Amino acid sequence: MAQTNKRDEQSDVFAGFRSTFKSFATEAIHVGQEPEQWTSMAVVPPISLSTTFKQQSPGNHAGFEYSRSGNPTRNCLEKAVAALDGAKYCLAVASGLAATVTITHLLKAGDGIVCMDDVYGGTNRYFQRIATEFALDISLADCTKPELLKAALKPNTKLVWIETPTNPTMKVVDIRACSDLVHEHSKDIVVVVDNTFMSAYFQRPLALGADICMYSATKYMNGHSDVVMGLISTNRDDLHERLKFLQNALGGVPSPFDCFLCNRGLKTLHLRMERHFKNAMAAAKFLEADPRVERVIFPGLPSHPQYEVVKRQCTGCPGMITFYIKGKLEHATAFLSNLKMFAVAESLGGYESLAEHPAIMTHASVPEKERAVLGISDTLIRLSVGIEDEEDIIEDLDQALNAAHPKKN
Ligand SMILES: *Cc1c(COP(=O)(O)O)cnc(C)c1O
Repeated sequence: MAQTNKRDEQSDVFAGFRSTFKSFATEAIHVGQEPEQWTSMAVVPPISLSTTFKQQSPGNHAGFEYSRSGNPTRNCLEKAVAALDGAKYCLAVASGLAATVTITHLLKAGDGIVCMDDVYGGTNRYFQRIATEFALDISLADCTKPELLKAALKPNTKLVWIETPTNPTMKVVDIRACSDLVHEHSKDIVVVVDNTFMSAYFQRPLALGADICMYSATKYMNGHSDVVMGLISTNRDDLHERLKFLQNALGGVPSPFDCFLCNRGLKTLHLRMERHFKNAMAAAKFLEADPRVERVIFPGLPSHPQYEVVKRQCTGCPGMITFYIKGKLEHATAFLSNLKMFAVAESLGGYESLAEHPAIMTHASVPEKERAVLGISDTLIRLSVGIEDEEDIIEDLDQALNAAHPKKN
């Protein structure tokens, strides 16, 4: 892992996770934001809405021609994210799925994709219901067991898609082990990590051997639940060149206004993620100790099956907790309907606490048989713990559990 900063040694909340990436906050605040790039010397990058840019003579321009191909506000965001990923390059696109589609266009008909078996519902839907129509060959593998990934590689495999932790069952994949075995098999296979859950603050897939790191910036990277966006980072010149061509040629670009907002969100990423971690750790411990809860899956708890991998490859954990409530669907529904501060809603990674029912909501598009294999059952509940006060988060969880399982007497 890259150079790191020490966290506050006094705090035992983050025991085992004491280091963060060196100069992360400084880079989030300054890289790509230089006032000298504007004639106005604006300290905060302006929102550049112009779709076109004046050329001194045909072909003689200051670096911008047309806003789909390049935009000043988008540039500021892309430079900041590249720095935070420890990457040479980053490209911003209109959504996380636009990032997935853009990356998939690196392939051609007949090529194969091996995808982690538990991924974001929309990723699963795109690969299985759309990419297959374009003659791409999709196979699923449980990459938490690298030998299963190895067995799934075929002569036509060109892309390996890893999501870690997975959504919603929070399985953690060893990025280093998987990248190494894939690249040993063939240098031509591109390893992509969907880093949405961890954010750049807690995990750097490129430093662990991945070729591309992508995000739904809609979640933690923007962090304010007011922008839909995707990001694609890489260190490889060849991949960046092709992806930049695709960003322009496919056209799924974000608006300058959204780039401004996401760039602003990044300025507090480090503060938000530390607080998400602290609150989620408290909530996970509370749930794990509660008799009304069957099982808690949180990568920051020693009970997580891949806890050792988490401590090795991450600098902390985000606010994502999955748990099985005791009982049946009606208990899960009662819990969710009785939450007061948590909003029952899809999405995640914003400052506000959210709760949802994956089988009915986010993962309804995953075939029922696959849901059963993955453990996405009727009693599974997913939380996105926000950055409110810890006591209020616990109190809300407690009163909703009481509503689902009234005390008998
Ligand atoms: C939300 C999400 C996506 C899709 O991103 P959009 O911005 O909604 O298009 C992809 N991967 C993960 C892990 C997500 O949570």
